[in-house]
Amino acid sequence: MQPPTRSPVPQARSICVACGGALSAEPQVLGGLLVQASPERVRSSWLGLTNGDFFSYHRCSRCGTLNVREYPDEYLLAELYGAMPANMAGALSTGEQQANQRAYAHWIARAVRRGASDVPLRILELGSDCGWLLRELMQALRGRIGSFAAVEPNQDVVGQLKAAIAATNAPAHHFATLEEALQHEGDELDLVLAIHVMDHLFELNELFATLRSRLSRQGLIFMVVHNPGSLLARVLGQRWPPYCPQHPQLFTPKGVSCLARRYGMAVVNEGRTWNRLATGIIF
Ligand SMILES: [Zn+2]
Repeated sequence: MQPPTRSPVPQARSICVACGGALSAEPQVLGGLLVQASPERVRSSWLGLTNGDFFSYHRCSRCGTLNVREYPDEYLLAELYGAMPANMAGALSTGEQQANQRAYAHWIARAVRRGASDVPLRILELGSDCGWLLRELMQALRGRIGSFAAVEPNQDVVGQLKAAIAATNAPAHHFATLEEALQHEGDELDLVLAIHVMDHLFELNELFATLRSRLSRQGLIFMVVHNPGSLLARVLGQRWPPYCPQHPQLFTPKGVSCLARRYGMAVVNEGRTWNRLATGIIF
């Protein structure tokens, strides 16, 4: 089989990924990186975590979500992600990781408890990384996890993820792709987890349509995204860490509601998380 021919054409959009609204003609947050730059230049910005070196963001006139208009083609993206260390590796201590994931697990447990039923939950997590959230959910959702599909394409962390599955005795399986996970799981899912995933995907339509079609009647999607309207974003301005090449969009709360509505869902709860960040990420 021939390897895919690399397309030199960047991905592009002229409307908001969240609500379909018009994007500002001029960038509202100016980054120093152009999608037309050489792959070497893009790669060095991608890996450098250099503040201010990102693709410029255009604001949606309807929901305020920040969108990049152009983004590297999918083959270059695969190379770039392949060259990255494990999620936040080296940036956060184990304690900080645990504290963040424990907070998410408690949010999830509270949302699940609001449901009337107590049947075992069929759960799918996008981007399971080393299995941090699974470890915390084994405590927070004690006895409620019927099955857990951990989707993680990054081969560098799969060993740690599998170790977490084994150590916790979780009824969990690892899958390299969403397609494999959906094939293996039953018809319906009760809970989809996406912690810092939706900010990273330039194209969301197909993913949301697929997830929506597989959710049970009371099914929930729990997502954590960065909020460009947050106090921290306003205080730090251009130095706000989520302004980076890995985020083709940054959702406002209104943008998340619009996205849910487009797929026949509603936001049942929203709130702020207090992430523990190493100070090196900000400054
Ligand atoms: Zn919008």
